[in-house]
Amino acid sequence: MGEDFITLTIGKQKNIALIAHDNMKPELIKWCDDNKEILKKHFLCGTGTTARMISDKTGLPVRGYNSGPLGGDQQIGAKIVEGRVDFIIFFSDPLTAQPHDPDVKALLRIAQVYDIPIANNKATADFLITSKYMEQEYDHVVQNFKKNVEDRAHSL
Ligand code: PGA
Repeated sequence: MGEDFITLTIGKQKNIALIAHDNMKPELIKWCDDNKEILKKHFLCGTGTTARMISDKTGLPVRGYNSGPLGGDQQIGAKIVEGRVDFIIFFSDPLTAQPHDPDVKALLRIAQVYDIPIANNKATADFLITSKYMEQEYDHVVQNFKKNVEDRAHSL
């Protein structure tokens, strides 16, 4: 039946999701511009407006999903589950209420479940982007989701 945990690998080339709440967009755009040389080595995506503004202002290719309040955070959460997003820079606004707060919480939770590196402010983003793991593969251990379903189906 397999082990409770499995090892997944975050590749050398990362699938980075970029998200910023409205008040934080200028800071994230500047951060992307400052780190352009590193970011261009990876695959970038983001919530709709953030992705579009980063592309427009920095020239980096960023695949855009829906806007955050219209489900973009949930799309990115789903990509984490599918193993297609493995790194997140999310400049959330700690001082403004968001209509899609439940979606934001869901994204943070699923990132935690799948042991995804996630930065929610510039200092953390700076530490992550300068990590030696940006240039290497990184193995991490996550729940064996197939075994989890089997176990639950048998025991419930
Ligand atoms: P946006 O969404 O990039 O479409 O503005 C971000 C968010 O508020 O989650």
